[in-house]
Amino acid sequence: APTIMWFRDDLRLGDNPALCDAVSRGRVVCLYVHDPAFPLGGAEKWWLHGALSALDHDLRAQGGRLCIMAGDTHESVLWLAARTGAGAVVWNRRYGPRARQVDTDVKAALKARGVDAHSHPGNMLHEPWQVRTKQGTPFRVFTPWWRAVQAKGPPLPPLPAPDQPAFAVVPPEIGDRLVRPADLALLPVRPDWAQGLRAQWQPGEAAAHARLDAFVAERVHGYATQRELPAQPATSGLSPYLRFGHVSPRQVWHAVETLGPGDQDSACFLSEVGWRDFAHATLFDFPGMGTGNLRPEYDNMPWRHDPVALRAWQKGKTGYPIIDAGMRELWHTGWMHNRVRMVVASFLTKHLLLDWRVGEAWFADTLVDADAASNPFNWQWVAGCGLDAAPYFRVFNPVAQGEKFDPAGDYVRKWVPEIAHLPNKYIHAPWKAGPSAPGGYPAPIVDLAGGRARALAAWKAL
Ligand code: FAD
Repeated sequence: APTIMWFRDDLRLGDNPALCDAVSRGRVVCLYVHDPAFPLGGAEKWWLHGALSALDHDLRAQGGRLCIMAGDTHESVLWLAARTGAGAVVWNRRYGPRARQVDTDVKAALKARGVDAHSHPGNMLHEPWQVRTKQGTPFRVFTPWWRAVQAKGPPLPPLPAPDQPAFAVVPPEIGDRLVRPADLALLPVRPDWAQGLRAQWQPGEAAAHARLDAFVAERVHGYATQRELPAQPATSGLSPYLRFGHVSPRQVWHAVETLGPGDQDSACFLSEVGWRDFAHATLFDFPGMGTGNLRPEYDNMPWRHDPVALRAWQKGKTGYPIIDAGMRELWHTGWMHNRVRMVVASFLTKHLLLDWRVGEAWFADTLVDADAASNPFNWQWVAGCGLDAAPYFRVFNPVAQGEKFDPAGDYVRKWVPEIAHLPNKYIHAPWKAGPSAPGGYPAPIVDLAGGRARALAAWKAL
């Protein structure tokens, strides 16, 4: 009887514990289920199309194929297991509450039908329950959590891709239920907004490793000092590849750790990869994190309703150049630099006093790395309602942030060309340029001092 390898957020052949398990059991059927009950953002859909095509291509090169089904997850997995006469279904774990519920139900249903079901750790450095305080409780603060992770030593070395796996022949009657990536309508039709995404990204495992190798060879040196500068190509750009599992965090860890334990750049980079694990562990332990404030006192926050201001923020037309540059980078490329993500999130939740969930939803729709753990975790962190959050009174001033992290204005000039002619002293505050202030660029939509005072007053009243 064949084993079904059920791919989800682990679209790779290398360091894939579930796939190794499946191959060790004999012939393998590779499955992906696209379930409308697990909605994806527009940019993620675009990525998924390329990701499924790449995985199918890689499997075909080994003599196999990817069986893609569309519909209810539970029903699809059970149907395929019955039709192929599978003896087992294996997968790598997910950590969000809905996904875990589905996995638990599928496992029980398979076992009730006499089909073995086995889940593996494949998407994190360590499983959430493996890193606990002395009392056995979840950590609520990153630094002690990270110390506990480091005390465990390096994560297990990555597994090689299976050598000469044997694939089961998929019977023709099953073919009727299988679809191609193109049938899933994941790509935008009209308007085709994905031009910038195509120019910047290539989904798939091969592209992930090319990016990782280039980062280790060229960019990791200097990461600690350059990573905050959005005009520099100083970060890895691995986030969508980690999001879709084209590369595993263990592979990233071991590629970078070889640079030497005392190396400040690699240590800084690995701690960022650690934040990804911490966000996932927090979602596992606090399953309401995606929608509910981790600090319940924020339930009474008097968030404003202001669709005009929200639209200006989304479109990059707030009149604050660093905000507008970030929001336009996001729209064009599906990605935004981390420092700028923090600044635009602070501006939305503090100066505009709009609910972090509104910003999170926009990011979820437009980021290629949109992630059910990292996205709400970081939004709550910036808004002040996260566990280990920045204090609410720390309000980023977008002019000062621009001057500090984009001192020559290169990032702003790239994404906000209508003010590119301004001298550096006005590039982050164009309204000060007087008569040479550009006509087409909007005036600031909120007064910084007034917005800040309003936010602090709301916070004090909680
Ligand atoms: P690098 O600097 O090269 O870091 C390497 C890897 O570490 C990243 O690929 C990512 O997997 C991980 N990482 C780095 N910083 C963080 C962090 N703060 N939290 C969690 N993981 C981190 N990241 C996502 O992957 N998905 C999201 O949906 C997401 N939403 C965010 C929303 C807000 C408001 C903010 C402030 C940050 C968000 N981040 C998110 C975190 C971070 O901005 C991105 O991971 C990072 O910019 C990706 O670029 P990179 O791969 O070049 O990062």
